Amino acid sequence: MYNLMQALIDEKINFSLFTKQIIEEISEQRLKKLLRHVLTHSPFYKSYYLNVGVTLKHINEVTIKDLPFVSKSLLMENFDSIICDQDITHKSIQQYFSNGFNYKEWYKNTYKVLKTSGTTGKPGVFIYSKRDCDTLKSVLINRATKIKPSIGKKIKIASIFDTDDFHAGISMSGTAPELFYKIFPIAINQPISNTIKMLNDIQPDILGGYASGVYMVAIEQLKGNLKIRPLEITCTGELLTNSMRTTIFKAFGKFPTNVYAASESLCIGQSCENGNIHINEDWHIIESPKDLKYIDDNYLNEQCFYLTNLFNYTFPLIRYKMEDRVELSSENCSCGSPFHHLNLLEGRTEDVLTFETNGSSEILFHSIIVKLLIPGIERFQIVQYDMNKLLVNVCVNNKVNKNDIYQKVNDEMNEILTFKGLKNFVTFSIQFSDFISNDVRTGKFRYIIPYQKYITTKKEHAILV
Ligand SMILES: [Zn+2]
Repeated sequence: MYNLMQALIDEKINFSLFTKQIIEEISEQRLKKLLRHVLTHSPFYKSYYLNVGVTLKHINEVTIKDLPFVSKSLLMENFDSIICDQDITHKSIQQYFSNGFNYKEWYKNTYKVLKTSGTTGKPGVFIYSKRDCDTLKSVLINRATKIKPSIGKKIKIASIFDTDDFHAGISMSGTAPELFYKIFPIAINQPISNTIKMLNDIQPDILGGYASGVYMVAIEQLKGNLKIRPLEITCTGELLTNSMRTTIFKAFGKFPTNVYAASESLCIGQSCENGNIHINEDWHIIESPKDLKYIDDNYLNEQCFYLTNLFNYTFPLIRYKMEDRVELSSENCSCGSPFHHLNLLEGRTEDVLTFETNGSSEILFHSIIVKLLIPGIERFQIVQYDMNKLLVNVCVNNKVNKNDIYQKVNDEMNEILTFKGLKNFVTFSIQFSDFISNDVRTGKFRYIIPYQKYITTKKEHAILV
């Protein structure tokens, strides 16, 4: 708690003094400090940078542009030598995952471990120490919320997101100081009637969660099923479109704060009153491919940007390729913020499955895909080819027994649909395929093809033919 208080005080003082020039200076100092740390604590980075002639003695003259890029697959392949605490291994983390999930628990009493699905088909793992978490909480508390904690009255936060399996949102909400906050995690994949009941009972001060979850309950508030008056609303984890933002405003009389967060950093930026997401550039360096003169072919992709997280000293991310498509704005925002802002051009809303049940809609969030990351499965894709019909396409490696995989996929799908109350409405079939191609337009792999996307692709295909 002491470290968090100190981080909050430092953050508050720094934030009030920021100008563009000060932000640049702080970011440069923090980059050098992080580089010093990785060159002495991370065998991978030490040797990776030695290859381009960067060692400890060059710290003073080195700039970020002298450093090579990294990707999720490169980091996962070299996990044990990247991590700055040599007691942690990929194997020990897998063991920890298999013990089950408790969002309040810390790995080795010291670390938060996050798991993501990602586009490669292999789960990504990201780790933060308590100290790293204190920095990120101080930024979020100071910049992303207006209601400040006070002793005596706890702030009630209800967050709609995936509540199991080491996802970023739920894992980090377990670190909120209990002296100030009471956290109510709400499973996005449970039936909407349960969510409405829970929220009506809780009457949260802050309503938060994935944009699609907040949007979904905003519709219920407009219908009159939900009756809450949150003082503040935050959306995160996926694209918040203008129409979603407007619907949320109509429902609650407040525009949501849009927090740009990912497992790679949960405080990349947050929106101002104009709806622009300002990057927390004192703690992050963001580079767009079009601003870079030279780039290795492996990393050249207009659908991405490069992130340097300046506060993660445990599993450092330096010039890390992020798959989100963003556009950095060179214009000043009328809110007066000294931080640049960005537009999220493509998020993950398209990965949400919507079903019709007795006149209402239920959604299944894309995080269900983590449940199908079963050993032996090389790739899979869930195609919603009719409103309430799914096809699960599965590619397996040659070493596995197809019957076993079929049974596991079948069990997981049944469990997902039962939990959501969709068992009687949605049917699915499982099919083994030799190959599943990437999205023709974006080049990315899609685990989920929602119904609308399926229809559009079919139409486009028909035109092409
Ligand atoms: Zn602004």
